Amino acid sequence: MALKLFNTASRKKENFEPREQGKVGMYCCGPTVYHYAHIGNLRTYVFEDVLRRTLLYNKFSVKHVMNITDVGHLTSDSDEGEDKMVKGAKREGKSVWEIAKFYEKAFFDDFHALKLQDPEIKCKATEHITDMIELVKRIEQNGYTYIVDGNVYFDISKFPRYAEFARLNLEGQEEGARVEIDNAKRNKADFVLWFTRSKFGNQEMQWDSPWGRGFPGWHIECSAMSMKYLGEQFDIHCGGVDHIPVHHTNEIAQAEAATGKHPWVKYWLHGEFLVEDTGKMSKSKGEFLTLNVLKEKGYEPLVYKYFCFTAHYRQQLNFSWGGMDSAKNSFNRMKNKILALKEETGNLEQDGTFGGKSRQYLDDFEESINDDLGVPNALAVMWSVLRDEELKSEEKLKLLYRFDNIFGFGFKDWKKETVTVPEEIQKLVDEREEARKEKDWAKADALRDEIQEKGFLIKDTAEGPQLEKKY
Ligand code: AMP
Ligand code: ZN
Repeated sequence: MALKLFNTASRKKENFEPREQGKVGMYCCGPTVYHYAHIGNLRTYVFEDVLRRTLLYNKFSVKHVMNITDVGHLTSDSDEGEDKMVKGAKREGKSVWEIAKFYEKAFFDDFHALKLQDPEIKCKATEHITDMIELVKRIEQNGYTYIVDGNVYFDISKFPRYAEFARLNLEGQEEGARVEIDNAKRNKADFVLWFTRSKFGNQEMQWDSPWGRGFPGWHIECSAMSMKYLGEQFDIHCGGVDHIPVHHTNEIAQAEAATGKHPWVKYWLHGEFLVEDTGKMSKSKGEFLTLNVLKEKGYEPLVYKYFCFTAHYRQQLNFSWGGMDSAKNSFNRMKNKILALKEETGNLEQDGTFGGKSRQYLDDFEESINDDLGVPNALAVMWSVLRDEELKSEEKLKLLYRFDNIFGFGFKDWKKETVTVPEEIQKLVDEREEARKEKDWAKADALRDEIQEKGFLIKDTAEGPQLEKKY
């Protein structure tokens, strides 16, 4: 089954064929480390992880690059507003370097809690300033830039394909734009490649350059680092949908202006937003939801991942606590069933080939994920397997382990937790044992229900009652 992916560049689902057979170069725009990632940001990384896993599942070797933005990202993607890192530093009374270090770690803690696979290369903007300067020099040599007040601008009128990728209506955009006007720009959508005049007073992060001491614009880092690690043309570039009209449009302009090669990237994939009733989830609104907040409210990170899987990555996903509760219920039912299967099969790793009904399930699963990462359909196949009354436990578990290559829940590592039984529960258990001895079955059953309501399953074995945590 060929892998099909929706390419933003053509607005069509296309058969995926990398530039070099069997090998994929993939670049994903990473976090700006000035604050915790909100759960909307994390939805995008969950989608990218499914993409990565699907490529691996299809036996491609993958070189996945992700940047860490620790300089130069302004609150508006189009060179306006405050510098995000400076804002973070001011908020916490720390240096920008301290802020970057702290939030980078926090980001990867979340990343790993969701069991997302590490990219082969993680690259920090501040460690690639020379690469960015070299790229700006090439763009300048090719005649695409101008300088006003010490800042180097990209002149979009020199790059006729500028509006193509995002199907921009530049006239309309000019009228509709709500950003402050930078009078230095020749065209509204021109953007800064290198700042020497900081609009923000004392900028801690500064480097020497042919245009003077300063710092890079935000977009240049992704063009520079992706080409450094993946070559001047490569296979896949991803991010959230908000990146289509500005950031990725600018990245394309920079890269193609420098190299003269088109298309820079063969497949562009964009994840839709996590939205709240009040609109897109974003940090600029002040309070925002993080994975830690979810944890405090009793939703483990993998429940959030399950929640993300209930919608296709190209559909908006509405966040609600009700939605989280039903994800938690489904996740826990899945967990109970899988733990039971492991117990029944003696925890043995199931190997071998897939035949008969199992083969059919596997085909359905592969068809779902290879059809533009159809994870909700793949989840439905998983549930059919779990509910199938004819399939043997060994076969089920073998399929589930296979599916987990895409889901990344870590089924193989799941174990029944050894439970410490609270005193209150132990008392109920003892009372129930008493009732059973006296053959008061009604009382014993009522106590069993009470114990269950309090979160424990009770099993009567030859060695006496045993308790398990109920999910
Ligand atoms: P940032 O750290 O702001 O650069 O964003 C990191 C990633 O999260 C980018 O790929 C954004 O496109 C994406 N993103 C931002 N807001 C949301 C949201 N509400 N839902 C899904 N993805 C988002
Ligand atoms: Zn980027």
